Amino acid sequence: MSATKKFRIAMQKKGRLSIDTTDLFKSCGLKINSREDRLISHVENMDIDLLRVRDDDIPGLVMDHVVDWGIVGQDVLEEIGMERQQDGLPTDYTLVRKLDFGGCRLSLAIPVEQEWKGVESLNGLKIATTYPNLTKRYLDSMGVSFKVVHLTGSVEVAPRAGLADAICDLVSSGATLDANGLKEVQVVYRSQAVLIQRNQELFPEKKLIADTLVNRIDGMMQAHGSKYIMLHAPKDKVEEITALLPGAESPTLLTLEGNPNHVAMHVVSTETLFWETMEKLKALGASSILVLPIEKMLK
Ligand code: ATP
Ligand code: ZN
Repeated sequence: MSATKKFRIAMQKKGRLSIDTTDLFKSCGLKINSREDRLISHVENMDIDLLRVRDDDIPGLVMDHVVDWGIVGQDVLEEIGMERQQDGLPTDYTLVRKLDFGGCRLSLAIPVEQEWKGVESLNGLKIATTYPNLTKRYLDSMGVSFKVVHLTGSVEVAPRAGLADAICDLVSSGATLDANGLKEVQVVYRSQAVLIQRNQELFPEKKLIADTLVNRIDGMMQAHGSKYIMLHAPKDKVEEITALLPGAESPTLLTLEGNPNHVAMHVVSTETLFWETMEKLKALGASSILVLPIEKMLK
């Protein structure tokens, strides 16, 4: 049970999710009084405390109701969830939003010089990983049994060091695998960062904070990728032009002084506008076409 009335959010202290998480909070308007070395950062303009911890601790903090929210990778969330289940600890939480960062994949990799003969060829072999549960869930589903070598870091050196035959590790570019003489052979799990909430009714004051932040996060994610388009169009082509703009809502039309046959159109489009579309717009008689990024959006 959370002893404090302050809204508490657990985030990764230092690692691949910390910068994006901090950026997300900042873009939601949180003024963070942060000192990197502190466990707790206070938010100056809202009743929120940020708990900066190792990502592995975040699922447990949410599942044990120590914090109200946590931001963590789905990979860690599922892995720790399975571990806690085996230990008979609570594993429930509510998924609030999938976030648009922290994308990566958990993959099996083997030494480059070995020919890959499919997942079955791993039967009975040793696999080094920081994700024993996710690896086992996948290989169980494929009917493959293996010996797990549970490491908490430097998984990619295990085959060369003779500790394992293969590894199951996170991959983004593949450069780390290359550098260690390994090749990716099978994706086991795809992950992204998620926002989770403790599975218990929030006090009204906390609920208000949660709702406000979720609205702002949605506004950020919607704005991301949307464009604001301004152009001049012949009056009789407005419909055709609107039809060309992907995801455009009803456009705003403004009269142009001294130009009765043309209007200025302002449109929010939910997708990127490609050059081909711009050229088609021009062919329809549109001119002065401006495409601007949108920072925030509230519907
Ligand atoms: P901590 O000290 O907090 O335990 P860590 O070393 O376990 O940190 P990081 O390497 O910072 O964790 O990764 C945190 C999360 O970032 C991963 O669980 C994953 O969801 C995500 N992630 C995104 N891209 C990558 C990547 N290329 N490699 C590893 N993790 C990635
Ligand atoms: Zn970790």
